[in-house]
Amino acid sequence: MSPGGFTSLRKETAMTTPAIADDLVQPFEIEPFHLRGRLVRLGPMLDSIVRRHDYPTPVASMLGEAIALAVALASALKYEGVFTLQTKGDGAIRLLVADVSSSGAVRGYAQYDAAKLAQAVAAGTDFNSVPRLLGAGYLAFTVDQGEDTERYQGIVALEGATLSECIHHYFRQSEQIATVTKVAVRQGGDGRWRGGALTVQRLPEEDRAEVTGSREAREDGWRRALILMASSTSEELTDADLSPEALLFRLFHEDGVRVFRTHGVRAECRCSRERIERVLRSLPSAERQDLGEADGSVTVTCEFCNQSYRFEADAVAAIAGA
Ligand SMILES: [Zn+2]
Repeated sequence: MSPGGFTSLRKETAMTTPAIADDLVQPFEIEPFHLRGRLVRLGPMLDSIVRRHDYPTPVASMLGEAIALAVALASALKYEGVFTLQTKGDGAIRLLVADVSSSGAVRGYAQYDAAKLAQAVAAGTDFNSVPRLLGAGYLAFTVDQGEDTERYQGIVALEGATLSECIHHYFRQSEQIATVTKVAVRQGGDGRWRGGALTVQRLPEEDRAEVTGSREAREDGWRRALILMASSTSEELTDADLSPEALLFRLFHEDGVRVFRTHGVRAECRCSRERIERVLRSLPSAERQDLGEADGSVTVTCEFCNQSYRFEADAVAAIAGA
């Protein structure tokens, strides 16, 4: 059995790939130790989301981490709908939102306080510091599978030096499958953003028809995988010239790593004129009027993608009358 029904390709030797694929999730397994993992590589997709907003570097960097982590976590779930990772805090970055649809459409945005951010930067804060940039608050995961289905939500206090640590804290608290993740985001000399994430999970024993090897060997394997994972560098995770297979092979080749078919992710918003219209229609008329310009028109800008939708006065009147 392979997780997620992927066809397995055994990689005994390093392969030469004609062009290195980007913006993808590479699932893998370290079978002898019952470990499953995901390597996320983000290039043009991350760059287009982050640069669309022209955020200051620390905000762009944090949002990049949130997006890479959301892609990594979403890819380990079976769902039809939208997975959202969101943080809310009282620090310079008030809000981070990253969501990933089951078809691989990804979007994200941040809200920040410029004055607080300038203070944090002046104090020499690391650009991935949760306490310094996000402050006190919470991290939430939501899986929305549409109307008539139960919304799943997991929530944890922002406790940890980095977003990865907050996620570890969540998995420890929620007693879910042991999960460890590492994330890296950087802006290259050409100004382009890249991101990467590596996640390793212990497969539940009951997932296996027959459990091979002793419990002790699996414990050792888990610890070994964590050490190897920690040894991967931010440069490796974000290196456009290093294929996902080559990186996994470099890290785990002695342990029998197998890679599965990759799946792509892309920057794509789900906003549309129809959706905005529905939102406007659902607002109390007083609120709708507050949005109106002097000429009675309403312009709504999508926070995710910055696209503006303008409704002329007669269109607004039609919405109000509907
Ligand atoms: Zn949008």
